Amino acid sequence: MAEIIDGKALAKQMQAEMTETVKALQAQVGRSPGLAVLMVGDNPASAAYVRNKELACTRVGIRSFGKHFPATATQAELEQVIKDLNADSNVDGILVQLPLPDHLDAIALINQIAPHKDADGLHPYNLGKLLRGEEGLQSCTPAGVMQLLKHADIPIAGKTAVVIGRSILVGKPIAMMLLEANATVIMAHSRTPDLKAITLNADILVVAVGRPQLITADMVKPRAVVIDVGINRITDYEGQSSLVGDVNFDSVKAIASHITPVPGGVGPMTVTMLLHNTIWSYCQQYGTKYN
Ligand code: NAP
Repeated sequence: MAEIIDGKALAKQMQAEMTETVKALQAQVGRSPGLAVLMVGDNPASAAYVRNKELACTRVGIRSFGKHFPATATQAELEQVIKDLNADSNVDGILVQLPLPDHLDAIALINQIAPHKDADGLHPYNLGKLLRGEEGLQSCTPAGVMQLLKHADIPIAGKTAVVIGRSILVGKPIAMMLLEANATVIMAHSRTPDLKAITLNADILVVAVGRPQLITADMVKPRAVVIDVGINRITDYEGQSSLVGDVNFDSVKAIASHITPVPGGVGPMTVTMLLHNTIWSYCQQYGTKYN
């Protein structure tokens, strides 16, 4: 049976350490780190994510400068808000909660965020740094995956890692991070003709697709490390709704060496790395090292 990589426990431990760090830095610097989460409209899933992020900020001592806008907010209005936050010395991190209503251009908005306040690591400047293997703000979910691998003592160098999914939010950055850690990285996506032939090579399999239980035990190499990024809400025949990942957890845990559950695996680490990025930006301002 696979060892379960417990993201909830690691997130709790890291957030407890952050609380101490923030307390000490706050005493030195005289202000708390600040994060502004911009949300537009009333998508219930986004509202829950934003609430979660703001609660986590409060727990570790980060001030929230959250701004919620009606679905009718204009591009110009939001760009002005981002400009004001860029100039606000109490704000260290800015994030635009995605998805946005159709009339808004998310990429253009993200490009307005000052790169040193880009808490989600999605600005082209920070993505460029990642591509070059340079230190910088990194996308939260992939950075959280790397923390999970590190804390579970999973060797990466020399291993074959397969990443399924090539989004700019998850798949591409995680592939870059694994490459930087000296894995041999293979990427698969919706146009990969024989997914199983690829996944069976993986010592480390990262699945970020958004298809409930796409990966079954026959697609996994025995003793592989399986990281399930997917979050899918499904409804069973009795009308009960639940969250599942992209991996068939029950069958795959019988064959893998390590596996992340959904919920309680990658999800809690995403929020944790957002807090990490905010503290990192804050420390950069004061010339303090924070890893
Ligand atoms: P996305 O932008 O929709 O990208 C999905 C990727 O999966 C695409 O690259 C797509 O290929 C690929 N794909 C789709 N169907 C496939 C198939 N049958 N076989 C192989 N590849 C396939 O999604 P995302 O933003 O990366 O998110 C992926 C999942 O992670 C979602 O369930 C999302 O909710 C979850 N997520 C979780 C967290 C967390 O904190 N745990 C954070 C972010 C996202 P093409 O490029 O060819 O279309």
